[in-house]
Amino acid sequence: MANVIFKDVHKSFGSFVALEKLDLDIRDGEFVALLGPSGCGKSTTLRMLAGLDFPTSGEISIGGRVVNDLAPGKRDIAMVFQSYALYPHMTVGENIGYPLKKRGIKGAARAEAVQKAADLLQLGALLDRKPKQLSGGQQQRVALGRALVREPQVFLLDEPLSNLDAKLRSYMRAELIELHRRLGKTMVYVTHDQLEAMTMASRIAVMHGGHVQQFDTPDAIYNRPANRFVAGFIGTPPMNQVEGTVEGGDFVIAGHRVPIDRTAYSADLHDGPAVLGVRPEAISIGSGEGLPATVRLAENTGHETIVTLELPDKRRISARVEAARRLDVGQPVALRLDPAAIHLFEATENGARL
Ligand code: ATP
Repeated sequence: MANVIFKDVHKSFGSFVALEKLDLDIRDGEFVALLGPSGCGKSTTLRMLAGLDFPTSGEISIGGRVVNDLAPGKRDIAMVFQSYALYPHMTVGENIGYPLKKRGIKGAARAEAVQKAADLLQLGALLDRKPKQLSGGQQQRVALGRALVREPQVFLLDEPLSNLDAKLRSYMRAELIELHRRLGKTMVYVTHDQLEAMTMASRIAVMHGGHVQQFDTPDAIYNRPANRFVAGFIGTPPMNQVEGTVEGGDFVIAGHRVPIDRTAYSADLHDGPAVLGVRPEAISIGSGEGLPATVRLAENTGHETIVTLELPDKRRISARVEAARRLDVGQPVALRLDPAAIHLFEATENGARL
């Protein structure tokens, strides 16, 4: 069993509070992504789990054992960094085998473990090369191999793919998913890339300002964002957010009524100011009845067109339509918002979902 629990963890650097009341319960064998913008505290969270940094208060446990005062080497974890941190003078095989050498494992036992990790990562043919004779993706696989040979209970990965180009990143994403499936080990993965988190993790902890904003499945994070930060962070382009007022069965934007399904919201939904959230793909652009808008920009990416629309009060929102759709800049249109896809949030800076 190697579940990971953060219980009421706080972390300050001097007077600066980096993490406040962090509670996370990561299940054995789970692939969890810590996702958030720069400075949100995700690396600090991982470093505390690795034993490279220490909580100011609270408790961290791995597999039921409190590790707060345990040295990194005693935690049964292996960490993979963005920088790979390979030894340049050692071969691939020596790099992968190094953690075992340090543990005093010699000869055939070490060679066998190195071979096993190399086979798993398709590095078998490269064992005699030096790191500088490898591509970025191959170097990252060696760094993974060095973590694998330790057979840790928990893998910690800190933005391991961010030095790779887009194509290689997508290839390595698939490799990591496959590796996790085969090993079945707990993985905690830090990233600022929502695509990585959405495609690889079984659950995502979205972090911002030293707080976990939502800890849930990728599906729930996308389809039921807990607050305005999560709604605005996930999705490209992200969910539109428009301030207005709830009036009976409608949401009123600049004097125009958009029908909503009141039964879909919590009992806390009262008439008055709120924020309407709607994903670009839940807006249909037509003519006649609907919220009036003007086309300001149509960006065709080849497989879809992202349309920037201006509402009567000059606020802008975006919609996603099929690439073949022709829309002219300046064209007046009428927008229909699918009531089943309308989210409502409290009208505060990071308003909670209603
Ligand atoms: P990034 O993606 O840029 O690495 P992050 O989400 O991983 O960001 P952390 O590295 O965890 O962020 O840092 C969280 C906050 O704590 C930041 O505001 C950072 O400036 C601050 N911080 C981190 N380490 C220290 C330190 N040793 N001393 C002072 N402040 C620190």
